[in-house]
Amino acid sequence: MWNLLPVRCLLCSRWTAQGLCEPCLRDQAPGLQAPHRPRCPGCGMRLAAGVQRCVDCERDPPAHGDVTVAVDYAHPWDRLLQRYKFGNKPEWAPALALLLARALGPPAPPLRVVPVPLSPERLALRGYNQAWEVARHLARGLQLPARADVLQRSVDLPGQAEQNRQARLQRLHGVFQVHSRRRPWVMGQTVALVDDVLTTGATAGEASRALKAAGAREVLVWAVARTPPPDEGPS
Ligand SMILES: [Zn+2]
Ligand SMILES: [Zn+2]
Repeated sequence: MWNLLPVRCLLCSRWTAQGLCEPCLRDQAPGLQAPHRPRCPGCGMRLAAGVQRCVDCERDPPAHGDVTVAVDYAHPWDRLLQRYKFGNKPEWAPALALLLARALGPPAPPLRVVPVPLSPERLALRGYNQAWEVARHLARGLQLPARADVLQRSVDLPGQAEQNRQARLQRLHGVFQVHSRRRPWVMGQTVALVDDVLTTGATAGEASRALKAAGAREVLVWAVARTPPPDEGPS
């Protein structure tokens, strides 16, 4: 179901059928499907070989189920994702959806796809929700049902990037709700929550709690990129 027309690779401008060429995927997305560089299923952080789960997730298990991340939010993906989000580039979404699909591997069990929402004010300013653009292309490719109007976000919080996880959690509390008319769509379902970048995981955690409060059986988190720990260089 992927619509593959030749386009320029987003990283190197070579012609490719999928928006990101194979040499760039091999060189810039190491570990995309390689079992020797696994990520923590709780938070998407890369793990040392042989480790099942990071210490933070071991101690404080997240509200959601497994996290799938394609790449680290580091060179060259950080600049690419910033331009995608802030540079009015919704047409890059199909390539990013394919990148995420690669990380997901074989088709997932029956599930429903929703994006992390923007507030109505932020959506009006930006013109598109970058998470929904990825989510809807991914859902079309995987032939899964998807909706943008399930989760609602009452406010966008300024300056989130500078806050630590605890501060973000407190400020995010109660920010997400499931639209009352969409509760039947969520009830008893496994829901995949899609975002472009996973930073502290606080947003995914709060959005997951809202989906579960509305009756979702399980919430998986799918993100194109994960912010690496501050002490770690680019992958
Ligand atoms: Zn390339
Ligand atoms: Zn973890």
